Amino acid sequence: MTDAHFHRSGETFASLNGTEYRFCGIHPWNAAAVDLTADLARFRTMLGTDPSLGVGEIGLDRLKDRNISSAQREVFTAQLDLAAEMGRPVVLHGAKCWGEVVKAVRPYVGRIPAFLFHGFSRSDGLLPDIVEVNGFIGVGKAVLNDHAVNYRELVKKIPLDRLLIETDGEDLPDADRSAILAETFAKTSELTSVTESQIDSNMAVFISSLAMCR
Ligand SMILES: [Zn+2]
Repeated sequence: MTDAHFHRSGETFASLNGTEYRFCGIHPWNAAAVDLTADLARFRTMLGTDPSLGVGEIGLDRLKDRNISSAQREVFTAQLDLAAEMGRPVVLHGAKCWGEVVKAVRPYVGRIPAFLFHGFSRSDGLLPDIVEVNGFIGVGKAVLNDHAVNYRELVKKIPLDRLLIETDGEDLPDADRSAILAETFAKTSELTSVTESQIDSNMAVFISSLAMCR
């Protein structure tokens, strides 16, 4: 199955039919603590030597602080520049500020091949913008919550060729991740009638600029 986004040993991954793709990036929560110049140099070397490597999870965040710090914006923009330079897909984080994230990525359309809007749970108003920037939307296990009425309404409106399933699992055993994926997929397909093969082909488009790996 396809898991558009999960973490293992502090790194970010996506999987398609058993093949895993790794992503490198500075999460907005760590933006204030990093040596940006050193990290960018390290990522540039990694991306240069590994054509199967994407960029992420990067973005902006208002979960921990109501204001988006200038450090967050600087770290985000520098990594978008790098992804554009290397032509790699990007996994985005935008908790409570998806409108800002859409604005920030718009200038990169055509230079960054595709975006994953991971954990996207805002109103449907941004869906056309997400399609325009060649974005995909990761539906997560929040859809299993019977009280998440608004989220389920949003999921129903995601264009089927933009929909992915993600666990956002953190160091989960593969069997547990598979179980979450299966449940999340079952609920999502009940709401949208999306098929597994549609999700696989969406994933293939998202990572199409990456070389096959491992
Ligand atoms: Zn994540």
